[in-house]
Amino acid sequence: MSISRRSLLAALAAPPALKVVVAGGHPGDPECGCAGTIARYTDLGHAVVLLYLNRGEGYCGGEDLKRCASIRTLEAQNACRMLKARAVFADQYDGRAIVDGPHYDSFAQLLNAENPDVVFTQWPIDSHRDHRAVSALTLDAWLKSGRKFALYYYEVAEDTMMFAPADYVDISSVESRRHAACYAHVSQSPDKWYPKQVEITRKNGAAKGIAQAEGFLRHKDSKAALLP
Ligand SMILES: [Zn+2]
Repeated sequence: MSISRRSLLAALAAPPALKVVVAGGHPGDPECGCAGTIARYTDLGHAVVLLYLNRGEGYCGGEDLKRCASIRTLEAQNACRMLKARAVFADQYDGRAIVDGPHYDSFAQLLNAENPDVVFTQWPIDSHRDHRAVSALTLDAWLKSGRKFALYYYEVAEDTMMFAPADYVDISSVESRRHAACYAHVSQSPDKWYPKQVEITRKNGAAKGIAQAEGFLRHKDSKAALLP
């Protein structure tokens, strides 16, 4: 089979595929803050992992708490399938995040095993302990790696505080997939928080004449990554 000159040139010009990790406290956090950006990345052929600190053991609507981990693991896997991403779980326990020496090490090991080019994590000033924990664990892994990957922060409606994004991704074209990935988390009553996130991304986009934009803040000492 011969390769046309045009496709060969296109292949040579295309930047190499990136490995992207989006870390979040619970199933649903990476989707709430970044689903549109994740969809844009995977559409471009980049590989994305959603790294959840726990399996949401602490709440799954009216269901028995014993069933929450399996219900929410399944919801996360459904969301990932919609986004063409992969789910990884750090296996901490919902609401009881531990940030100490052994947990810094095990989280860094899990993250480094993915060999990421860029990592998104939750902004550290947040009303939920698990969100603050995943942010601290990610920052520590980044520092210990010698700032090997690009590090960006994202926000989630209701919980994130004092967040001022500086980089934006136009997600207008993937709005329906963002919606589907967030609504995969049926047990989390998405009607309560999804509209608030849409309002955040609408405001992000307004200044730039974009319908919907997810906003991020790069760590000031991090290299810049290719955003979709
Ligand atoms: Zn959360």
